[in-house]
Amino acid sequence: MIIIMKPDASAAAIDHIVNFIRQNGLETHLSTGHEVTIIGVVGDKTALADKNLEIAEGVDRILPVTESYKLTNKKFHPEPTIVKVGNTSIGGNNLVIMSGPCAVESAEQVMETAVAIKKAGAQILRGGAYKPRTSPYSFQGMEEDGLRLMKEAREATGLPVVCEVTSQAAIDAAVKYVDMLQIGARNMQNFFLLKEAGKTKLPVLLKRGLSATIEEWLNAAEYILAEGNPNVVLCERGIRTFETATRNTLDLSAVPVIRSKSHLPIIVDPSHATGVRDYVKPLALAAVAAGADGLMIETHPHPEKALSDGPQSLTFPQFEELCNTLRPVAALMGKPLA
Ligand code: PEP
Ligand code: MN
Repeated sequence: MIIIMKPDASAAAIDHIVNFIRQNGLETHLSTGHEVTIIGVVGDKTALADKNLEIAEGVDRILPVTESYKLTNKKFHPEPTIVKVGNTSIGGNNLVIMSGPCAVESAEQVMETAVAIKKAGAQILRGGAYKPRTSPYSFQGMEEDGLRLMKEAREATGLPVVCEVTSQAAIDAAVKYVDMLQIGARNMQNFFLLKEAGKTKLPVLLKRGLSATIEEWLNAAEYILAEGNPNVVLCERGIRTFETATRNTLDLSAVPVIRSKSHLPIIVDPSHATGVRDYVKPLALAAVAAGADGLMIETHPHPEKALSDGPQSLTFPQFEELCNTLRPVAALMGKPLA
């Protein structure tokens, strides 16, 4: 961190800042120019958090040199992280596809979906039992009964399952049934939920918030890692922009950006990004070409009857076709679909 003093900062103000930083256990490097003095700060900057240095007398501005996120930062952990989810791994040399309905609706729906997506090439079953819906009058999910159905589908097919959690109560229930917790876009900055998910030590799929910057997203992941849980997978699912032709705007640049800044695996969800079934396949292909570690694709036995997100859900033949089209692209990218 670099503190730039105002041109008219007094010697006393500069001394005060330097002493204050040293008293907090950090070192300083002073650079006295013709017009301004610059104070370089060396050491663990968390000691200066909440000290309001930017409004101290004589300070013009403060520039961070390193990112605020440390545990998720590639600089301090250059090796890519591989997250084990049940019998599969995300972030290694395979492309992992998670698929299933937006919401768990019935035993038949989940079981039929699990069998079909496994046959087509998916490795993880998704399905929401706690649904964070925009309207309180929309279907809110089957809650613990839904989690139970997901577990039954895992027992029948061997596919690990991922379910979204929206509260402490949902976490307490989910740990009994699922292989991976999902924290959705709307809760990306629910810091209490992030910490509680971290404490479970289960793998966590952290979706990007609707209007979150990549830095905010990595700081959200940092909350989970700071609880001693390194098993985080990031999911780009589109961000809100001025465009209305799609539900969100898929920010595919997040894939190489995350790759350069973090060691965590990143997957892409073209279903929620577009909200339109026809756009899912081209963007899934683009995500794989951009280097994603996996995909999340919504599927439903009868999308026209789905209780949520039917318009973006693929039928099973469409999903199978998508997997077959992806296979050569994934192989070309060095991440073959298992
Ligand atoms: C979901 O995965 O069903 C979901 C609600 O996603 P998001 O949080 O990305 O909107
Ligand atoms: Mn959905």
